[in-house]
Amino acid sequence: MPKMRAKSDLPSKPCRHCGRPMAWRKAWARNWNEVLYCSDRCRAEAARLRRDTSTSHSSKDHA
Ligand SMILES: [Zn+2]
Repeated sequence: MPKMRAKSDLPSKPCRHCGRPMAWRKAWARNWNEVLYCSDRCRAEAARLRRDTSTSHSSKDHA
């Protein structure tokens, strides 16, 4: 018989952007493996940074 999961037993992982540990949330039950960021803000920031770096080879010439 599988034991009931204790709350402290919930999975957690660091946010890919800010590195803060984020605890499993029920809302993420379906896509926990795809959750990379602790918040929409981190996801937006990371997306912005990624876009900046991917286009940096053209803007670097100006810097
Ligand atoms: Zn974060």
